[in-house]
Amino acid sequence: MEAADAPSNSPPAASRHEALLGKYVLGRLLGRGTFAKVYYARSLADGAAVAIKVIDKSGVPAAMQARVLREVAIMSRLEHPHIVRLHEVMATRSKIYLVMEHAGGGELLSLVARRGRVPEATARRYLQQLVAALRFCHGRGIAHRDVKPQNLLLDGRGELKVSDFGLSALPEQLRDDGLLHTACGTPAYTAPEVLRRKGYDGARADAWSCGVILYVMLAGRLPFDDSNIPAMCRKAQRREYEIPSWFSQTARRVVSRLLDPNPDTRMTLDSLADLPWFKKDSIKDLSGLRRSTSLPAVASGGGGEYGSCMAANAFDIISLSSGLDLSGLFEEGGTKSTEKRSFTSTAPVEGVLGRIEEAAEEMGYRVERRKGGSLVMSKDHGKVLSAEAVEVAPPLLLVELNADGGRGGDVEQLSWTGLRRGLGDAVLDWLGNTE
Ligand code: ADP
Ligand code: MG
Repeated sequence: MEAADAPSNSPPAASRHEALLGKYVLGRLLGRGTFAKVYYARSLADGAAVAIKVIDKSGVPAAMQARVLREVAIMSRLEHPHIVRLHEVMATRSKIYLVMEHAGGGELLSLVARRGRVPEATARRYLQQLVAALRFCHGRGIAHRDVKPQNLLLDGRGELKVSDFGLSALPEQLRDDGLLHTACGTPAYTAPEVLRRKGYDGARADAWSCGVILYVMLAGRLPFDDSNIPAMCRKAQRREYEIPSWFSQTARRVVSRLLDPNPDTRMTLDSLADLPWFKKDSIKDLSGLRRSTSLPAVASGGGGEYGSCMAANAFDIISLSSGLDLSGLFEEGGTKSTEKRSFTSTAPVEGVLGRIEEAAEEMGYRVERRKGGSLVMSKDHGKVLSAEAVEVAPPLLLVELNADGGRGGDVEQLSWTGLRRGLGDAVLDWLGNTE
């Protein structure tokens, strides 16, 4: 059943003759992403059109695997009329398939490019839909952080659909490897404080991006030239951009309030949504609309308790659909079971790291805290264990324990067992190899 490797533009070879995992027939390539290709497909069951994002596991560096899991976890939690719905996740030994709602109208950017620019009423309608989707996410503790027209798709009826949560919480260091930088394309939509790599508030950064999107729709070009990032950053900082004469007074004001380089004084999306200009012709406020039917509400900001509501929610994320088994997504061909363990938790990062620290010290490890939610534990003979906690979709954490045998060889089974015991109820689920 394994699909063969895809030649660059056509669907994976095997699926031309047989349905993908017995369920979907793959069609043309819709687009390329960072680690993935997105194909049009039809469901054999009901003929429905879907988009399938095919991720080649071998092409995803270990450090990025958590990001793919993050995208899956985030998208599966969000049910909103303006967010691309994730229907199902399937995996084979070499590939992961994200079966999504098909956005048949293409990218918003192509529409703007085709028309040169769009009239204010049209731009406002897309902005209303974008803001509704983003406020919906922010209310659930999720910021997109990669809002740009390439990630804004249109469905067959011309309704906006926000896609691509792969970058929503991009770890800063990953911007440096060049790979992501080129793959993400232009940083022209990114808020200055994000480019400066300061600690930032995701919702405020998303508001900046909305300002750029609004500008692009109305002007037909970017406010800041992005050929030189430091120069662009300086221009953004000094508010050096020209507003074309055809912008209305209000549009002008809205753009400049959103493109405020200071995140603290920048207009929030809540204030934007309150403006009479914004509300004009709006059909209804979608920001609080339906939440995922299968998942209970999640408090934003991550839970401080091992509360049962949180646990239930995170558990639902993992076992969301019959096809969604995060544990298997990256197991095959990865590191040997003796070298790596991962688990999910709904406890706060600090709490989990504290538990690991205690358990490790009890087993005679020296523990060192590192920045960014990680721990390094070492013992005689150079045996080293490290632990890293990544917020997959708050309050869900993905914690990875890595053993580097060092000069002393493999970390004994004893250590794993000790850690497991010490972690106790801080663990929601062990992923993959449990023994
Ligand atoms: P990545 O997260 O790796 O950047 P994207 O999710 O942005 O990948 O997908 C890459 C491209 O594939 C998009 O820019 C778009 O053109 C196309 N695409 C993605 N999802 C869909 C969809 N649900 N329907 C139609 N086209 C899509
Ligand atoms: Mg993308």
